[in-house]
Amino acid sequence: MDDDFERGREYARERDRSAALGVRDRFYRPDDLYMDGNSLGPLSTDAEHVLQHVLDEWRELGIRGWTDGDPPWFHYGEHLGERLASLVGARDDEVVVANSTTVNIHTLVGTFLTRCDRENRGQKVLVNELDFPTDHYAIRAQLRNRGLDPDEHLVVVESRDGRTLREDDVAAALDAHDDVGIMFMPSVFYRSGQLLDVERITELAHAHDAYAGFDLAHSIGAVPHSLADHGVDFAAWCHYKYLNAGPGAVAGLYVHRDYHGETPALAGWWGHEKETQFEMRTTYTPAQSAGAWQTGTIPVLSAAPLLGVMDIVDEVGIEALRERSVELTEYLVFLVDERLPECTVGTPRDPDRRGGHVAVEHSEGYRISEALKERGVVVDFRPPNVVRVCPSPFFVGFEEVWETVDRLREILDEREYETFERRGSGVT
Ligand SMILES: *Cc1c(COP(=O)(O)O)cnc(C)c1O
Repeated sequence: MDDDFERGREYARERDRSAALGVRDRFYRPDDLYMDGNSLGPLSTDAEHVLQHVLDEWRELGIRGWTDGDPPWFHYGEHLGERLASLVGARDDEVVVANSTTVNIHTLVGTFLTRCDRENRGQKVLVNELDFPTDHYAIRAQLRNRGLDPDEHLVVVESRDGRTLREDDVAAALDAHDDVGIMFMPSVFYRSGQLLDVERITELAHAHDAYAGFDLAHSIGAVPHSLADHGVDFAAWCHYKYLNAGPGAVAGLYVHRDYHGETPALAGWWGHEKETQFEMRTTYTPAQSAGAWQTGTIPVLSAAPLLGVMDIVDEVGIEALRERSVELTEYLVFLVDERLPECTVGTPRDPDRRGGHVAVEHSEGYRISEALKERGVVVDFRPPNVVRVCPSPFFVGFEEVWETVDRLREILDEREYETFERRGSGVT
């Protein structure tokens, strides 16, 4: 804990002067204060250049881009996987960029359910009530597709406070159900920002003869991981949040080497052994890597920006990004405590238990988030009362954190939020 934070703006300016990561100016920030990089990261010049490069290749090479592109489009998913492997602590062939997160959850959970069946393990899947909804939709669908009743086979660990999950409660749930074959958990919770102990949870799952899978959507690019070292069996994530790879960017997945050679639940020709893919056999031979979990042709235009972003990530390093992210969230928590007594910090205060955003809770959270947007501060709202504020380490500085809290103070003082409609539905 940095005890030296000060309340004044000058202090924030000084911190920015003395310790910048130096990549901020490579990002376009569409609004005054873009504090929503955990939901949709902004465009960078690096991402833009690589996207333009692929357009140039398409114009000049046409179909030859698959083999003559730099890198060749045919291997784009594997190439990006290698670039990303160190971010999640995996070996090069354990990561591939493919599909969407939801599709990856389908194919990975489906694959491991098939293994559970074959190995006579239980076929229940352990999840928790704070999960992002799509994860449950996909897992329930996979259970249904196997003729398993999702209400019976999806075991949902409850939260004690509606914000966070205790690893002890995961352990208790595993003890209580001896037929859990897969445990699937987030690394960081999308609403509260709690960071789970991935290593401990993986050990718990394995001790109960269950596979351990993770959704890293809210930690990839913000928190370093050691998936292979921790023996995590599989993981999925998206790239449009902290990694700033653009709306609907192609997602990523990790499969531990032990399972390479397995036929994926959603097999498709793009996951076929590459050397023989174009022999066009009607039987499937899986690639001997995580690449097997690709399905159809990689959407190159939606994958290209990530390649640009990875240049920035490699330059700064994930450890430095994490360090800066912790400083910024720490400072934000300090300012909320000091200046916004009517708000509650819903995110764990121990930085080791926190991802890259802070949940600022207020009963008028929705209208406050609208008032902030009106004042050029982009945040988002998650029901029932959470304003998520994300000081992305890539492009947010201390002064912007200060300014965000200052504008929030004014909005509360002037009761400015009262001029906004109460919540309807829609994207926030
Ligand atoms: C953002 C997010 C997703 C998104 O899934 P898509 O298939 O990319 O729409 C999935 N899971 C979690 C936990 C997320 O935060």
